[in-house]
Amino acid sequence: MDHFEYRDGKLFCEDVPVRAIAKKVGTPFYLYSHATFARHFNVFDGAFSQIPHIVCYSLKANPNGALLRIIAKSGGGADIVSGGELYRALGAGIPADRIVYSGVGKTPEELRYAIESGIRMINMESESEFKTLRRLSRKMKRRVPVSIRVNPEIDPKTHPYITTGLKKNKFGILWEDAARIYREIAAEEYLEPVGISSHIGSQILELGPFVEAITSLKKMVLELRGLGMAIEMLDIGGGLGITYKDELPPEPKDYAKVVNENLGDIGITLVLEPGRVIVGNSGVFVTKMLYVKQTAGKTFYIVDGAMNDLVRPSLYNAYHDIVPVEQKKRKAKVVDLVGPICESGDFLAKDRELQGLKEGELVAVKSAGAYGYAMSSNYNSRRRAAEVLVRGDEFFVVRKRETLKDLIRGEKTPSFLEVE
Ligand SMILES: *Cc1c(COP(=O)(O)O)cnc(C)c1O
Repeated sequence: MDHFEYRDGKLFCEDVPVRAIAKKVGTPFYLYSHATFARHFNVFDGAFSQIPHIVCYSLKANPNGALLRIIAKSGGGADIVSGGELYRALGAGIPADRIVYSGVGKTPEELRYAIESGIRMINMESESEFKTLRRLSRKMKRRVPVSIRVNPEIDPKTHPYITTGLKKNKFGILWEDAARIYREIAAEEYLEPVGISSHIGSQILELGPFVEAITSLKKMVLELRGLGMAIEMLDIGGGLGITYKDELPPEPKDYAKVVNENLGDIGITLVLEPGRVIVGNSGVFVTKMLYVKQTAGKTFYIVDGAMNDLVRPSLYNAYHDIVPVEQKKRKAKVVDLVGPICESGDFLAKDRELQGLKEGELVAVKSAGAYGYAMSSNYNSRRRAAEVLVRGDEFFVVRKRETLKDLIRGEKTPSFLEVE
């Protein structure tokens, strides 16, 4: 149940007709359901109730401040990958002691910001990052709780662009190197080895890869404890998949069950970093049909949303279900749903069977809550879309559509080009 349902042939988000929002806000826009988002978080969090844990929502999936406030109110934390995400998380009221920080290219400024904010754990991803943190912690004379993101060399059997735990990926540190760096960390006055972390990929649809990862992470925890390190946190990352088309991802409770079974009672706080599974199916992208274009044997539905708004189809050839906002008794057609951008790769769907649509009608691109707005851009000088949150029978614009002025904000004209 995702709270995007038809009533008398009209698509609703909770108790609000999608068309009514489009009338007020214009198109295109992202639309999120509060009930769906909050329930996904609570179901995920609840699944792990048997073990001490923190659910650190992965901001990069969707960092809208309204959503972050829901996380904060629900007792969640944040998984961040940049100083910008730290700023957003703190600003939305997520306590620093529930924030963990991953990423292969943290700058010294970002690390300093994280240390000053007193976040729960910094997940280091290279020996050079360790050296930078060592220097900073000595200079700042501040205790810094750290973990190493280990690369468990596991194939999560997902899209190559979102696989992160293989030897050939840029993420994490191989165990033989990590074990040596942990010893160096333990010898430091200010760095504290409090955890181990990993994240093996995204849109994972089987439990096997997680079981493999947990089995090897557990060994590592015990080995480090054997060396006298008080490893108290195990961060197993995010990656649980969702249904876009006909995938059957594991339920959070099944995931929690195998984690429990394979981890056993080793007295550790589990850190989980779900992104997509919380927000993916909590959002849709609503766009309006501008033109129907027929060419040799092909029908294009040209809509006002494009790859700059939702890049997943272009980038990963990702499938998103597309549904009309108003169901009509019309013959289905096989069409390409494309945007206005000057790129052949600008499509939302290819050779898709859709209800016949007329110009001016609306469609909803489903499962667009994760890596949708977050990956949007201004390409072709298109203004970024609005974001709307529905709660019950009310809706709230949680981000305004950009204005033309927003497009040139920050640009400067060199004096020799100024017109008198
Ligand atoms: C992207 C990412 C996540 C979230 O992944 P999902 O597949 O959206 O759950 C979690 N942790 C890290 C380190 C990430 O880079």
